[in-house]
Amino acid sequence: MKIICIGRNYIEHAKELKNPVPENPVFFLKPDTAILIRNRPFFYPMFSKEIHYETELVIKICKIGKYIQENFASTYYDRIGLGIDFTARDLQQKCKEKGLPWEVAKGFDYSAPISSFIPFSDLENQNDIRFRLELNGKQVQEGSSSEMIFSFDRIVAYVSQFITIKMGDLIYTGTPAGVGPVEIGDHLVGYLENRKMLDFRVK
Ligand code: ZN
Repeated sequence: MKIICIGRNYIEHAKELKNPVPENPVFFLKPDTAILIRNRPFFYPMFSKEIHYETELVIKICKIGKYIQENFASTYYDRIGLGIDFTARDLQQKCKEKGLPWEVAKGFDYSAPISSFIPFSDLENQNDIRFRLELNGKQVQEGSSSEMIFSFDRIVAYVSQFITIKMGDLIYTGTPAGVGPVEIGDHLVGYLENRKMLDFRVK
């Protein structure tokens, strides 16, 4: 499986990182070794001094497809979860300055904590899926799918023009404003609607 991540999908987050609002989705990949499941602790890596959390809705692909039309895209994913796109912001900044790829900043081991998944049909309002992150008991991020610049359908349609999506692939759909650093000892708890989905520590 592969992990596709969308960047700059919320206007306020694009602004906070001083990025322009994109015309098309911006995406990058993480390898399968980035996955961190079952609320296992995240071990702060040696190579960075500035790891940021980015809380994101994650959709799970349920069938293979390419050149998917936007009006059929919703049949290609059926479950949703909550994930953290851990980012080595210091390394990413160096990559950006030099115009280099982001893999060292985004694709490192365990940079993609992921919750369990629930069926879309379990959600009350599929057009306004709310989520939030608490860091050490204090809310630091909140967002809704209704605030995304590019919808799930648009993302699936766009990405599948370039890359075949397969059953089990994950798409991290971008983070709202409020990203920030984590420290060793921090406790992260993430909610999807009122369901506690993530609950893990930085060690
Ligand atoms: Zn992200």
